[in-house]
Amino acid sequence: MTITPSPWQQELKKCVKCGACMAVCPIYRQTGREEMVARGKLNHIERQLDERFDDEEPLTPGWLEAVDLCLLCCSCEDNCSKGVKITEIIADARHRQTEQSGLNPIKKSAFSLLKNRVLSLPRFIKAGSWMQWLLWRRLPRHSGLVRRLPLPGIDDKTVIPALPRRHLDDYLKSTKKPQTETALKPVLYFPGCATRYLYPQMGLDLLYVLERLGFSGIVPKELACCGMVTWGAGDQESNQELQQRNLEVFRKHSEIKEIVTGCASCGHALKEYDGLPEDCEILDISEFLFRHREKLEQLVGKNRVEKKITYHDPCHLRKGQGITSQPRWLLKLIAGENFIEMRHPERCCGAGGTFGLTHKELSRKILAEKAHDADSTQAEIVTSGCPGCLLQLTEGAVVANSQWQTAHPISLLAELLRKG
Ligand code: SF4
Ligand code: SF4
Repeated sequence: MTITPSPWQQELKKCVKCGACMAVCPIYRQTGREEMVARGKLNHIERQLDERFDDEEPLTPGWLEAVDLCLLCCSCEDNCSKGVKITEIIADARHRQTEQSGLNPIKKSAFSLLKNRVLSLPRFIKAGSWMQWLLWRRLPRHSGLVRRLPLPGIDDKTVIPALPRRHLDDYLKSTKKPQTETALKPVLYFPGCATRYLYPQMGLDLLYVLERLGFSGIVPKELACCGMVTWGAGDQESNQELQQRNLEVFRKHSEIKEIVTGCASCGHALKEYDGLPEDCEILDISEFLFRHREKLEQLVGKNRVEKKITYHDPCHLRKGQGITSQPRWLLKLIAGENFIEMRHPERCCGAGGTFGLTHKELSRKILAEKAHDADSTQAEIVTSGCPGCLLQLTEGAVVANSQWQTAHPISLLAELLRKG
C-alpha cells in the first residue's frame, strides 16, 4: 500500500529553490546546515513523496530530522516570494510521521489532558500547584521557577511558570456580574490555555482594559485549547476535535462579532479555522485596541510607564498574522520615549511550542542571541504579545544573568489605567 499523494505536492512544486528562506531561518543561523532550511526540508519531503514509499517502510533519518528540526516560526514563509505554505507542509509531514510511527508518548498524554473534560489540564495543573515547591524554587528577581535538585533533562537555568492555585475561570466565577448590571458591549475573549491556567493575571488585565473601553469580555468556560500545539506536533485528529469544540462555542455566541485574544499563537491558530461564523472576526488585542485608539488615548492621557521597555515580536503575530505596527503604537502610547526597539525584534526567541523542551541546546543558542539584543537596549522590561515567548524570555534573562523583567503590553497598560 502506498501513501496517497499529498495535498501539498502542488504546493511543493511552487518552490523555485531561490534560497531566500536561508537568510531568516534561526536553525540555519545556529547550525549552518543548508539541508535544514525550508528549501532543504521541502526537498526531503518531495523526494519521499515522489518515490511513493510503502506505508510500512520506515521514513528515512534525513526526512525525520528535517521535519523535526523546525520551530514552525514562519520566518521562511514570510520571506518566500513564491508564498509556499512551508509550515503547513511541515505540519502535514509530521502528521504522516505520527500516522506511521505514532505520537511521542509524552505529547500523547499531554494532548489527552487538553481534550479530556474529567482528567483535564486545569485539574492536573491545580494538583501540581500543591507539590511544585518540592522540586522547584521561586526565582528571586523574575517570575517563574527553577529546579531545586538535579532533574533529568532540566538544567539550573530552565524556567517553568509557577503553577497558580486559582485559574482565570475561578477569578471570573467570583467576580461575575449579572448581565443586567452591565451596559457594556460584549466581546468574546479567547484567553488560551497559558493565560487561563498559568498567567490568570494577564487575562484579568485584558478584561480590565476592555471594561475601561466600554466592553464586557465574555469568556465561555467551554472554550478549548486553540489546537496550535497539536497541529504543530502532527496530531491532526486532536487539532480537529479542539477546533470543532471552539467553533461550537463561537456559533453559540454568534451574535458577538469580535473575538479577541492576547495570545499570538492562539490568534494565529483561530484565524486559520475553517467554518468561523459569518462576519465573525478574530483580533489580536493590539488590533482591537488600535481600532479604539481615540478612546484609549484619552484614557491614558499623559500617564506613562516610567521604566525603559523593549519589545520582541512573537513569530505568530508578526509573521503569522502580519501584525507589527499596532503593538508598537500601543507601546509608544504607554511608554513614550521609554520604548526602545531592540536589534532584530523579529527574530524568533527559540521557544517554538515544545521545541524548547525537545531541542534544549539549540533553543538556548537562539535565545542567547535574543537575550543579547534585549540586553543591548538596557531595557528594564522586555515585552511580548505571547505568553509562550514571555516564558522563554524570562529564561533568557536568567541565562544572560540580566535584570530585566518580562511583561505582556496589556499588563503594563492595565497597570497604567489602574493608577490613572
Ligand atoms: S524562499 Fe520559498 S521559493 Fe525560495 S527556496 Fe525557500 S521555500 Fe523555495
Ligand atoms: S519555520 Fe522557522 S525554523 Fe522552520 S524552516 Fe522555516 S525559518 Fe526555519
